[in-house]
Amino acid sequence: MKRIGILTSGGDAPGMNAAIRAVTRKAIHEGLEVYGINYGYAGLVAGDIFKMDESSVGDKIQRGGTFLYSARYPEFAQVEGQLKGIEQLNKFGIEALVVIGGDGSYHGALRLTEHGYNAIGLPGTIDNDIPYTDFTIGFDTAVNTVLESVDRIRDTATSHERTFVIEVMGRGAGDIALWSGVAGGAEAIIVPEKEFDMQAIADKIRAGRNRGKKHSLIILAEGVMHADEFAEELGKFGDFHTRVTVLGHVQRGGSPTARDRVMASQMGAYAVDLLLQGKGGLAVGIENNKIVSHDILDLFDSKHHAELSLFDLNRSISY
Ligand code: ATP
Repeated sequence: MKRIGILTSGGDAPGMNAAIRAVTRKAIHEGLEVYGINYGYAGLVAGDIFKMDESSVGDKIQRGGTFLYSARYPEFAQVEGQLKGIEQLNKFGIEALVVIGGDGSYHGALRLTEHGYNAIGLPGTIDNDIPYTDFTIGFDTAVNTVLESVDRIRDTATSHERTFVIEVMGRGAGDIALWSGVAGGAEAIIVPEKEFDMQAIADKIRAGRNRGKKHSLIILAEGVMHADEFAEELGKFGDFHTRVTVLGHVQRGGSPTARDRVMASQMGAYAVDLLLQGKGGLAVGIENNKIVSHDILDLFDSKHHAELSLFDLNRSISY
């Protein structure tokens, strides 16, 4: 193997650039050539491919987003789309690939491996919703971004004795809510993985107020319901001077944290090692602080599990 390609696909996440940098630099260090593929599988099919050198990834480690851009390209789920991509791989002499993205991107990586082009997946999403990894690239940054806002909202909530419902991202997963909720000292964390009882939440806010508490923060995962809807429901149990904040796409941007940069660097270098060993169809992850890999096929058969001990922890320390 002489030449590898790299692409980012699906939703972007801070730390993707650090991963691209690590893959590129490590591959060059090992005597390989590296080609960047813009706009994910769409760019692959379109032949939007360019040779990279050490400098191509210079001054990128601290930047959010992905400098290779990302795209959704559903046509790649069809064999015709995949064959068009392979045509381009052959044209550029690319024998293997690193794909940074989520679940859908992993499907594409597995298909390419089955066609004879080894592909390794790296978990790039702020949602932390990928199985067989404790953390995904971008999650830590997103949690810290949320936390900064939670701290600010707490200031104004206290000044005006308000209750805030803060809606955070995560799609079907409650991870961002759980981590930012515990770190931000939220009175309640509402996640899709756990039932909630509005009466109990209202009672808790009331009890807090009765003992002189000035603010109440509720962190709501987007996978449960919209914050407006939640606030309206809460309003049926009493007037808590409730305000709503939907943090939205600010959670996807920004300079990656040290933790995301280091993990992305470790994962990127590891992916190159796997390709050098002639492996493909694998997803890289981190488990108990160790970089690991699993068959992509195994991931499709399993489910991500949020760290629900944080939910119980929060109930026992935040009231
Ligand atoms: P995110 O978690 O941020 O949504 P993702 O990788 O899951 O990331 P998707 O839009 O599901 O995002 O997938 C990204 C791209 O992967 C798709 O646009 C498509 O090009 C490719 N892809 C998705 N599903 C398949 C599939 N079944 N076979 C081949 N390629 C696929």
